[in-house]
Amino acid sequence: MVIEYQEGIFSTRQEVKEVLQENTKNKEDRESEVKVADLEGKVIGLYFSANWYLPCRNFNEILVNVYDQIKTSTGSQFEVVFVSSDEDLNAFNSYHSLMPWLAIPFSDLESKKSLNRRFDVEGIPCLIILQPNKTKDGAEFRDGVDVIYRYGVSAFPFTEERLQELKREEKERYESQTLVNLLTNRDRDFLLRHPTLKQVPVNSLTGKTVGLYFTAQWCLPGVKFTLKLISIYHKIKEALLAENKDDDFEIVLVSSDRDQTEFDSHFNTMPWLALPFDDLIAKTLTKYFDIQGIPSLVILDPDGKTVTKQGRNLINLYQENAYPFTEAKVELLEKLMDEEAKNLPPVERHAGHRHEVTLVSEGSGGGPFICCDCDEQGSGWAYQCIECGYEVHPKCVRAVENDPITDA
Ligand SMILES: [Zn+2]
Ligand SMILES: [Zn+2]
Repeated sequence: MVIEYQEGIFSTRQEVKEVLQENTKNKEDRESEVKVADLEGKVIGLYFSANWYLPCRNFNEILVNVYDQIKTSTGSQFEVVFVSSDEDLNAFNSYHSLMPWLAIPFSDLESKKSLNRRFDVEGIPCLIILQPNKTKDGAEFRDGVDVIYRYGVSAFPFTEERLQELKREEKERYESQTLVNLLTNRDRDFLLRHPTLKQVPVNSLTGKTVGLYFTAQWCLPGVKFTLKLISIYHKIKEALLAENKDDDFEIVLVSSDRDQTEFDSHFNTMPWLALPFDDLIAKTLTKYFDIQGIPSLVILDPDGKTVTKQGRNLINLYQENAYPFTEAKVELLEKLMDEEAKNLPPVERHAGHRHEVTLVSEGSGGGPFICCDCDEQGSGWAYQCIECGYEVHPKCVRAVENDPITDA
């Protein structure tokens, strides 16, 4: 934007008026304007956001943190410019007061519009990184939000080279991954077991299949899935006990609860282990496993390598039979499910829906879905109402014998 690119790809002067606005919280008004030209030579993040949208507010907090760290370590090499979609000046002012960076003045509608158009912004939050002195390829990087979530401050200066390097490092980390290096840090080598919050050494889990369970008490689907997971956990343990191997499986809560009290009451409902509340490693793990939403269950094998990040989905599909969640086991279960599906009626009347539902598989119009009965994910076989897009797990169908449902 502001930067005069060598090849004149675009110049801000067409996009933005020459003045940007500083966060005025602690400043005299007259100091609150910054010349666009002052941004020359810096890496710029064009930040499209609005305070009425929760994902924006969540990302904003993270960006403030990353911005402060980059400023501390690199001085003035980085700047962010907020392009607001707030409803009014008050909303803009209060949102901008949380931001230590610059903004297009709220009144400068023309610049905001032209930036949205120029960068073809389809959704917020959106962070577009502009490199100084670059030719067209690589001058503009659109996935700033993803990259900040995934790599945080280490992504700076957001160049293609830096991102390749981070991906390489990440791959190496995956390959040398062990339970101990995932779950411990310099100050802590234990996990918690309640009710006494007794400490359990992390290395006592080596050699076991371990589920890392990302959830929080404020997350309703999480609370719901936890109930199911507890029952499955006991069933897996019971089945293992028959072979005297009940110690072979464990789950570790990685919570994003908001405070210690919430964490304590949440963890109290669970029969397994937990990372301590607010442990820094929780954030690292979320990034490392690229957890996009909770609840989420990542399964590690007895060597600490990742087996699957689809633990939640597999539990929903196969319950306790999913254990130990390996590719071989899942293939076997899929085959069994295909066999079983042969015996299912091709059309069913389900108590939860007013139309007939038809059996579909991934190969015949099905695919990953959210079950309308239990609200959980599904894949493979499903009963589907083509008319409504209604889909349920075959196991969730409550068959209706005589047809009491009318099409009214
Ligand atoms: Zn279901
Ligand atoms: Zn229907």
